Amino acid sequence: MNNERDYYKATRRAVAAVNLPSPLKDRLDAIVRSVARSMNSGASLILLDSSGSKAVHSSSRALPQFYLHKGLLDVDKSLCEVLSGQTVTISDVANDSRIQHPELAAKAGIVSILGVPVMSGERAVGSIRVYARERCEFSAQDIAFVTTMANLAAIALNSDPSCQKTAVKQKNPLPPEASLLRRARSVDFAHPSEEDFARILDFYNIEWVYEPRSFPLRWDGDSVTEMFTPDFYLPGLDLYIELTTLRQSLVTHKNRKLRRLKELYPEVKITLLYKNDYDRLLAKYGCGPLAQTRAHGISRVLYSAVQIDDRVRALAGQISKDYANRRPLMVGVQRGFLCFMADLIRQITIPVDIDFMAISYYTGGSDSAVRITKDIDLSVVGRHVIMVEDIVDTGLTLTFLVDWLRERNPRSLKVCALLDKRKRRLVPFEADYVGFTIDDGFVVGYGLDFDEKSRFLPDICTIKNHN
Ligand code: 5GP
Repeated sequence: MNNERDYYKATRRAVAAVNLPSPLKDRLDAIVRSVARSMNSGASLILLDSSGSKAVHSSSRALPQFYLHKGLLDVDKSLCEVLSGQTVTISDVANDSRIQHPELAAKAGIVSILGVPVMSGERAVGSIRVYARERCEFSAQDIAFVTTMANLAAIALNSDPSCQKTAVKQKNPLPPEASLLRRARSVDFAHPSEEDFARILDFYNIEWVYEPRSFPLRWDGDSVTEMFTPDFYLPGLDLYIELTTLRQSLVTHKNRKLRRLKELYPEVKITLLYKNDYDRLLAKYGCGPLAQTRAHGISRVLYSAVQIDDRVRALAGQISKDYANRRPLMVGVQRGFLCFMADLIRQITIPVDIDFMAISYYTGGSDSAVRITKDIDLSVVGRHVIMVEDIVDTGLTLTFLVDWLRERNPRSLKVCALLDKRKRRLVPFEADYVGFTIDDGFVVGYGLDFDEKSRFLPDICTIKNHN
């Protein structure tokens, strides 16, 4: 599929990425990215879970979400072969009995597959797979390249102290029961709100599993009398999400179950999304009952221009100290960052470079996904990057953007946010520099808008009647 020189360059890039002191996930992502790019195909790294019997996608490139959600990987015969240490090539997935979901592969545009084991000594711990969109007889050179990348993945796994014993468990702890539910060829949501929510997760490229696992809560002798089945599991974040979009009266009951779940399974991370939060999340993307509601003017000044100035000076002082002699590249995310970043860079006392990016909004279509509508112009490779955002709310946007920027191999990456609504976090996200931590409520001014209004206000204000 490619010539030796291109493979050499890709290998060199991947080795450099693996050699960086970055988190394991980033290093594995860099390997998969190199494979996908240089072979002009989809690619994934599949690792065995801690029990050694189930496989989960650990990292993937250029593969649609529905294909990643297609279900049980452990029954896929081609994977079994790879996990027994063999290299597998399938030139026509539509007519090969080893492929469990040929129709989904066809829908995803996959024609040929190459699977190479990731070996840790004598033992296969996973596989790198290449998904070609055109029929392909993989050459010896293609196989040698992917084998090199699989060896590199094994080195990254083995050299990571946190995962030497429980590599996959820590990275992607898909609960055993999840694989059973992921047998479903298509997801049958119990409630339309769940489907909307799954679309938002797809939008942010966050992997999810629907109703992954039931937790027994009470027993009568040997039989379970009460269970709790969270709506979603996000393997990449090891987080369960429960939507409470039903009647408020049922929320008390659910809260009680949740308390019990936390007592019995303290290691389980779960976020409950209340109806109001959920409706507001949907409204942000133009759907749901609150989408058409309108704010009615300024309610009160939350932070005056003078208070903002003081705080921005303090942040600038901290950044100047932390980045002395490191000339950071500050990347603003359009458009709410405008006033904040303009003031920040004027108070910073060291040289900085600046750049901007913008992302698109949810379109509601079935192929909705975050799109970068304005990419950065400067290279971030080897740079100390600081992303500058107006506000962190659910954390979805920044989680996506940070992942996206990390893939470009900056030397370091931090986030500076003017405002942080910590209590409304849906996914765990910590900004490194925060101007003000605020409670609920929608704010405008100092660059932040509502419906493109009020950006020009010098103060940060809350608005009336905003749901
Ligand atoms: P997240 O993905 O963290 O939920 O969303 C962050 C984005 O939501 C921000 O960049 C901002 O555009 C928008 N946002 C969240 N809360 C507010 C708010 O109170 N006021 C304004 N103007 N935008 C907000």
